[in-house]
Order: sequence, then structure tokens, then C-alpha cells
Amino acid sequence: MPDHLLHPDTVAVHSGREDLAALGAHAVPIDLSSTYPLPDIEHGGDAYEAMTGGGYPPADGGMVYARLWNPTVARFERALAELEHAPAAVAFSSGMAAMTAVLLAHTATTGRAHVVAVRPLYGGTDHLLDSGLLGIEATFCAEHEVAASIRPDTALVILESPGNPTLELADIAADIAAVVAQAGEVPVLVDNTFATPVLQNPLDLGARMSLHSATKYLGGHGDVVAGVVACDEATAEMLRPVRAITGAILHPLGAYLLHRGLATLPTRVRAQQANAERIAAWLSTHPAVEKVHYPGIDDDRGLIGRQQRGAGAMVSISLRGGFAAASAVASSVEVFTHAVSLGGVDSLIQHPAALTHRPVAPEARPSAGVLRLSIGLEDADDLIADLDAALAAATRVAEAEHATF
Ligand code: PLP
Repeated sequence: MPDHLLHPDTVAVHSGREDLAALGAHAVPIDLSSTYPLPDIEHGGDAYEAMTGGGYPPADGGMVYARLWNPTVARFERALAELEHAPAAVAFSSGMAAMTAVLLAHTATTGRAHVVAVRPLYGGTDHLLDSGLLGIEATFCAEHEVAASIRPDTALVILESPGNPTLELADIAADIAAVVAQAGEVPVLVDNTFATPVLQNPLDLGARMSLHSATKYLGGHGDVVAGVVACDEATAEMLRPVRAITGAILHPLGAYLLHRGLATLPTRVRAQQANAERIAAWLSTHPAVEKVHYPGIDDDRGLIGRQQRGAGAMVSISLRGGFAAASAVASSVEVFTHAVSLGGVDSLIQHPAALTHRPVAPEARPSAGVLRLSIGLEDADDLIADLDAALAAATRVAEAEHATF
């Protein structure tokens, strides 16, 4: 490949494939080995030592065992790292496995057990932090409270931008990274699942780590559960031993599908975003909708364009009819699928308070009238017609309820 800086669309198609021509292959090979032949005990032992210490397999030692290393996974990691402008990436069996490894690596081994977490967060992340399960104490706060929440034993600052499910943006460079840097050497992790590297690169904004539930846009077809953290080499060296010890490495078939998904990621995100922009604008005029939550709307700090290269393809709505209306819409859609998850080629709708954010403390849980929509690649007019019919059903439910009083 040419050594000048390539456009991200070109990187998405070609990264992690540099050696294929020399292998005489066009598609990425999948290595399903669970174990690897050892050249001799000494070299095998050295390789084991290198990888359990967080390093790479030495050329003369083999890869030893697939819980430590897998070349198909490593290809996907190289490709994702390049898209995230990161020196390295470490892939896991789920987004939550990735988050768990980050938390363990930064707390259990450092003696610092405090984490600052900016709400809103994905319900699973919020639950993990709130549960105390990993011996972590979390302070949940708003974006402007980060500086005041940091303590001498703070190991990590965690945030999502856009946040799940109501899509608030945080000013990552000014309000988080700069503020945290003033407080000392505390790493910042941005969950970049919703924005994807197509729209945002957290490491360029001062974050140490960019985490993805790769289950979502990176895979893009609803057929892989995976997680990945893009970061510097030193952080990758902290994460890999935790991944090896806890057995959280991604399966090579998943890595293959994710790597294939990356090739179309920029095109998918742009097309889904174009649909979402139209749908968000249409929903803003609908009488059953009290508020549309979409990053392009009410962006008074100008973060779209400056921080995030587009508003994305996630849209949430607060319905005037509250839970009853939300329930009627979720049950009435026909083109959208009523299902959790997001970021795939097909449109999904779900009720965060009942599902993805169910384990969140009541005071931080999304309200009962909120629905979250993941906009897919279908025709925008078909999606609008589907929502129009479902919102009409919700209005009938609200009127019937009103008539009973
Ligand atoms: N982060 C965000 C923003 C998510 O939406 C999710 C899952 O929905 C996760 C992390 C967890 O990822 P996974 O479900 O792949 O474990």
C-alpha cells in the first residue's frame, strides 16, 4: 500500500490485510486452532512468558494457546486500531468483557479502586460499576462534575458520547480530558460504540482508550457479540494479561466477521445517518412526540462538526403518552424490529427503562416514555411510514385511556 496518509474509507477496506498477497490469498484466512505446535520447550516457554506478560508472540516461539493469542483476532485488532488512530487494540468476547478487563487492569493491579463515571451510560456498564462486583467504588456524575469527583485513588474516568440512551454529547477534549489532566495522571475511557471511528476518534481528543461494543456498528449485521479497546501499547500490555487470565479473548470466527464488517463501516454509518437525520426531523414535527433526542438537535456547543463528524444513526424519542404510548409503538412496528441492540443494517426499536437500562438506579433510569431507535439501511420513507402507523396506534391507546376517566 502507498505510505502517504490514506482516507479512512480506504483504510477500512484494506487495513489488516497487508500480507494477504504474499500469502497468495484474497480473503482474510481464519485460524481456528485452539493450540499451536511448539518448536521446543525453551522457545515455547519464552513465548508463553511474553504473551502472559501482555506482549506479542515472538517469531520463533509459536503462539502456544488460543486463549493467549490468535492471528485472526490480531488482524481485526490491527485494522480497528488504524481506524481509531491508535497504536494498538485488544479484542474481547463482548463489550462487557472489554469493560471488565479495563476496570480490572486499572484497579486490581494499581491499588486504586475508585472510578468516576459520567451518566448516562449503557445500563450494563452502569450496573457493573454500581454493583461493587469487582471491588470498585464508582462516583456517578454529570459532565461538569468530573473534576470535583476525582480523588487520589481514582483509577479511571469513564464516559459515553453520545450517551446511551438519550444521546447527550460530552465535550471530550475540553470538559473531560483537559479537566482530568489537571487533576493528575488519570486515564479517560470513552465508549465510542454509538459514534464509531467513522464519526469520532476519542484518542485524538485526549482519551487514553476508545471502547466498543463491537456487537453493534463494527459488526453491523447482528451476528457477532464482541468488544474491543483501542489504546496505546502500554495500555494494551495491561489489558492482554487480564484477557488471558480471565479467558475473555474474542473467537476467531467473530473476529473474521468484524474485520469484514469494517470494510463497509464508513458507507453503512453514512447511509444510516442520512436516514436518521430525515427520521429525526420528521419525528420532531409529530404531535405524539414530546421530544426528539438526536445529537444534531440542540447542539448549542457546536460539537457536531468540531468533535463528532456527524450526528449518527441513533435517535431516541420521549412520547407524550408515556409508557402506554411507548408500549403501543413497540408492539405495532412492522419494518422496525422490537429488539435490544443497535448498529446493524436493520432498524431496531426498544424501551430502555424496561430493558437495556433496567438495572440502573431508579433516579438515573430513563423515563418510561422514552424509546430508542437504531436506524438501519432500509428506505427512509418505509421507516417513516412504519413509525407513522405505530404512533397512530399509540395515539389511539392514549385516547382510549383518556376516555375511561
Ligand atoms: N457499551 C454500549 C454503549 C452498549 O450499548 C453496550 C451494549 O448494548 C455495551 C457497551 C456492552 O456491549 P456487549 O453487549 O457487546 O457486551
